[in-house]
Amino acid sequence: MGSLFLICHFLFKAPHYLLWLGVGYIVPAFSLAAQCLMSGDQLNVAAPVLGGMYLFGAWASAYAMALRKKAHAHSKVAWFLIVILTALLSYYSYIDQQLWMRMLILNFGIATVSSLVLVSMFRGYKNNDWLNKIVDLSYLFIVLYTFIRCLIIFHFLEDIKIAMLSKSVWWLMMLAASILLSMWFAMVLLGTLVRDIILKLKDERSRDPLTHLLNRRGFYDYAEENLVKSPIKKYFLLMCDVDHFKKINDRYGHLAGDGILNEVGLIISQNVREHDLVGRFGGEEFIVLLQVEDLIVAYQLSERIRTAIEMELFLEQKISVTASFGLTQVKNQDLTHAIGVADKLLYAAKRAGRNCTLLETHEKMMKG
Ligand code: GH3
Ligand code: MG
Ligand code: MG
Repeated sequence: MGSLFLICHFLFKAPHYLLWLGVGYIVPAFSLAAQCLMSGDQLNVAAPVLGGMYLFGAWASAYAMALRKKAHAHSKVAWFLIVILTALLSYYSYIDQQLWMRMLILNFGIATVSSLVLVSMFRGYKNNDWLNKIVDLSYLFIVLYTFIRCLIIFHFLEDIKIAMLSKSVWWLMMLAASILLSMWFAMVLLGTLVRDIILKLKDERSRDPLTHLLNRRGFYDYAEENLVKSPIKKYFLLMCDVDHFKKINDRYGHLAGDGILNEVGLIISQNVREHDLVGRFGGEEFIVLLQVEDLIVAYQLSERIRTAIEMELFLEQKISVTASFGLTQVKNQDLTHAIGVADKLLYAAKRAGRNCTLLETHEKMMKG
């Protein structure tokens, strides 16, 4: 499981905390493997080193949780504890050989080092995501279980001899519980990671890499979703096309053109409300789904965007740019029809001299 975390970190650029979590799984696993292969005498000699590895693993996992939650692992305190506890383990291995004391010290140390992160992790805790909540609560439960393990050792394993340890029911149950909890934790954590990757991929699929606005596909998907969800709300469709953009590219270069498109996207986003959808429909064309009370408000919004673009001096070269707009109501929640109408109005705005917003009423007036 630890290797899986490291692979995710190094090969798939998964978050940095996975590196430390991987270390937190692998180092104690080596210690456990060595412990299983050693005789009682060998264990007496190696106990401080193996104990130190368990403690280091506990710190690495706590540090991973701190990175994950942007919390504080109190690493200096943890390392101070690790040094003191390893010294104590050495004392009870080489000077006064006491297995029970060693087990108590080690488990209490693991529990304490793991718990240092909990306060800042759960201070003012607020998390609406149930999967992340399960990960956090699982960590909390593992730390609590480690303290319970201390109590079990304290009460039930006082006179245990090293040769009897592997036959003790309590010891075997504790080992099984530790392994099961570690597996559970790895599973839920990998679950959140997979879910996050899928959400990220979905988001990237529906966004334009230059402006980070919705692309055509994303806009259609989210707009249809909005229209279906709220069939009684009034929606308006605004199409925007930057005027004479070819000339800007020709004069200042495509990179400058890209920069301007990016900033135009930003101006549009900053002038609409959070529930409105902004997308890049194609090259220098933008599309907005506005959810406002009536056409007048939508028109005022469009004019605000148009003036903001007109007033802006783009990039270092202080380039002036204008844009034309076509605005229509989305009738019968029919998005495709509304896009067709707004597109026609946009080109009518171009013919009318550019740098303006055209509505259906305007076009009728012009035809009249
Ligand atoms: P009009 O006012 O009639 O819209 O004139 P225009 O020059 O803006 O329109 P036209 O459709 O002739 O040209 C659009 C230009 O937009 C051509 C293309 O090079 C440029 N363009 C499209 N996508 C991008 C892009 O991603 N980056 C840059 N820099 N330019 C782009
Ligand atoms: Mg154009
Ligand atoms: Mg165009």
